[in-house]
This record gives sequence, structure tokens and C-alpha cells, in this order.
Amino acid sequence: MAKEIPYKIYLEENEMPDSWYNVRADMKNKPAPLINPGTHQPMTAAELGGVFCDDLVAQELDDTTAYIPIPDEIRSFYRMYRPSPLVRAYCLEEKLQTPAKIYYKFEGNNTSGSHKLNSAIAQAYYAKKQGLKGVTTETGAGQWGTALSMACAYLGLDCKVFMVKVSYEQKPFRREVMRTYGASVTPSPSSDTAIGRRILAEHPGTTGSLGCAISEAVEVATTNEGYRYVLGSVLNQVLLHQSVIGLETKAALDKYGIKPDIIIGCAGGGSNLGGLISPFMGEKLRGEADYQIIAIEPASCPSFTRGRFAYDFADTGMICPLAKMYTLGSNFIPSPNHAGGLRYHGMSPILSQLYHDGLMEARSVEQTSVFEAAEQFARVEGILPAPESAHAIRAAIDEAIKCKETGEEKTIVFGLTGTGYFDMVAYEKFHNGEMSDYIPTDEELEASFAKLPKVD
Ligand SMILES: *Cc1c(COP(=O)(O)O)cnc(C)c1O
Repeated sequence: MAKEIPYKIYLEENEMPDSWYNVRADMKNKPAPLINPGTHQPMTAAELGGVFCDDLVAQELDDTTAYIPIPDEIRSFYRMYRPSPLVRAYCLEEKLQTPAKIYYKFEGNNTSGSHKLNSAIAQAYYAKKQGLKGVTTETGAGQWGTALSMACAYLGLDCKVFMVKVSYEQKPFRREVMRTYGASVTPSPSSDTAIGRRILAEHPGTTGSLGCAISEAVEVATTNEGYRYVLGSVLNQVLLHQSVIGLETKAALDKYGIKPDIIIGCAGGGSNLGGLISPFMGEKLRGEADYQIIAIEPASCPSFTRGRFAYDFADTGMICPLAKMYTLGSNFIPSPNHAGGLRYHGMSPILSQLYHDGLMEARSVEQTSVFEAAEQFARVEGILPAPESAHAIRAAIDEAIKCKETGEEKTIVFGLTGTGYFDMVAYEKFHNGEMSDYIPTDEELEASFAKLPKVD
């Protein structure tokens, strides 16, 4: 008999995972290697070491070690805000009158307001261990920059953040949170870097993009002694760190003998989804269990559902290694009316390979329906979700409604990646009826695909 399920399933601190799980170890088709944009040869550890910290390079390239121990210092930091709760959405189930059982793993319980802190502390730790002075990065919506500033403040590292200009202007409070933690925040494109100056000359008045901010951050890291670049999503190492989400989720479900049927996550660069599904995907890859796994992305930035599986640049300045991934092209910039985050042009190479191999599905949703779901969720479950997270809520609600129609009692687990307190401008647009949906045309996407680098 199943024990009565509480609203919140907490783990004890001593039940927290002591290793991260590397899903690549169980993948038959490994994700394609990063390649050098000049030679098209796989990037070596030495080449990557000019940009990233040494231990992180090792993690990036490790396709075979299944469990990688979490250093004690990182575990003590995790204890400040983890384990995070797995919540049974009883109130939402009641409201929807669905026989489905809905759970969400809530990662918004820290000041940065998202799951990004799980990887920020790991990356800052390895930078510190290497004796570096500091790290550089980009931030779009601002959650990653905030998480990294918190981690750097904790470890006494300098932190330079390039923030996409449009969010720098729209989200002044995000910026101030970062400065509170001691980070310097520069709107991107800026005149501080050669690439920023080039982009400003080519596109005067541009409001910036993630790809452009990445180029600037990489330039600063590679031209300043004692600095390395860190990235909050997409990379294999980030998915590895985020596996703490999935490992905790699985441990909590196992405590009550619960087996999910459907696992849902929003997908920007793929880190929260990759982390959430990793241990479940591992079981699936080893033939031990089966799950329906669904990535949800915005219809205005549909990398999985309409992108190409091809080598592409990670950044607009085309200085980063090429990654094989589902991509809309590194020049793709979502329409200015897109408010819901998840605006990166590419997708994690690990998830791209898993999707390509038919091991997971993807769907796209339009932003007005995302905000409807966000509001419905906030009213019954209390938490004000980040718009990114609300993509997953939309799909979880849709699946629960399907269960109502068919009478199936499916168990749905989704990732609630963060809170939306800094996204009230977007909520305001929604409430005022000023939010519209924009879906890129095939012609727009084709124009972007035409600029993909030629790699055979
Ligand atoms: C960054 C972010 C995402 C998307 O990034 P992934 O790498 O795809 O997880 C989703 N939700 C929140 C709250 C975020 O901050």
C-alpha cells in the first residue's frame, strides 16, 4: 500500500546525493564533441583550458564516468537551500478535477530564484580551487548572473557579468541584486570589448542578445590574466551539476514508491530539464524503466521543434567552439515581444542527441497560454512562477486535462525552476492584454539556417 503522500516530500540533509550523475555514461550514442571553429577538429582539453577552468574541462569531456563525487565545500553550500521540496500539487489537481497526480520539484527557494545556483556554486568552486582571480559570464533574464554573483561572493571571487541590454534596462532590480553580491554588471553589447564595438557598429541601437553577451564575456576572460569564462546552461558540465535536481526528485519519489509516467521540463539551453531527467533517462537507457519525457519550449524560439540538428556557434561573435545541437542559427534573435525567457538559439548537445534518438519528445507553446497557466498555478498553488517555469506548468496542466478526458490516473512530475518576482513587466503586459504571440515564419528560419557554418 502506498503511504499517504504529504504535500511536500522533503529529504533529510543526509539523504542528499553525494555524487552527480553523468547521463553520458549510459548513452550509446554520445553527444558530438565540441569542435574548433578553425580546424573542425574536436577541441582538446588544452584548447578548452584557455577558456574554462581545468576541472570543468575534465567534466565537459568525460563521457564515461557515471558518478562524479560532489566536493564537500559544494555540498555545504547546497545545504543552505537544499534539498529542495518535491510538492504534490493537490490544490491544482482539485481545481482541474483531474485523476492525474501532479508533482513539482521547486527550485525557486533561494535568493537567485532559480535552479542556476546548483551549477554556479560548482563552477565558482573549481575556479577558486584553480587559484583564479575571477570569472566572467553573460546573463539574459538575470537569474544566472545573480546565481553566479552569490556563489562568487561566498568564495571571494571577482565576477564580471555582461547583461543583455534589453534586460539590463527592463530589470534594474536584478542588476542591483548582482551588485549587492559584489558583481560588476555591464550592459551588452558594450564598448568595453572588440566584439561589442563591432556589433554596435554593425547594428546600432541593438538591444543585445545572449549570443552577443557570451562573445563579450569570453573575450574578457581570455584577455585578462587569472580569469575564465563560465556558462549557466547548454554545456555538459552544467547538466552534470543540475543532476542534483533529478537525483533528489528520484530519491523523494522512491521513498513513497511513486513511479512517474510523464516528466516535463521547460527548455532554454536544457540544463534544468537535463538535470531533472538524468537519473530517469539513465534507467530508460539501461532498459530498467520507461518514462515519457517532454521538453517544452516557446513557439517564438523553437530550437527542438523547428531547429536543425547541426554544428553551430554558441555565440554571435563566433569565437566559441562549435557544438552539435538543435539550433535556430546563432544569428537568430526572438521577436522583441517575446517575454518569457528561454531565448537561446541552441540546445544542450546531450539533450539534442537524446531527442534525435527518439528518447524524449518536445513541444512548443505560445506565450499567452504560458502566462494563463502561470496565473492559474499562482492562484491555486501560491507560488508566483517564473515565466520560463510556466512553460512546464502549461504542459503539465494540458496533460492533466487529457487524463480527465480519458480517466487515466497518470503521475506527472514537472520542474518548477524558479520564481517570477523580477518578471512583473511581462505579467503586466499579460494582464493589460498587451501580450501577443509571435511565431517565426519558415522563411525567417531558413534565412538563419543558411548562415550555419559548413561542417561535414
Ligand atoms: C535559466 C532558466 C531556465 C532555462 O534554462 P535551462 O538551462 O533550459 O534550464 C528555466 N527556468 C528558470 C527559472 C531559469 O532561470
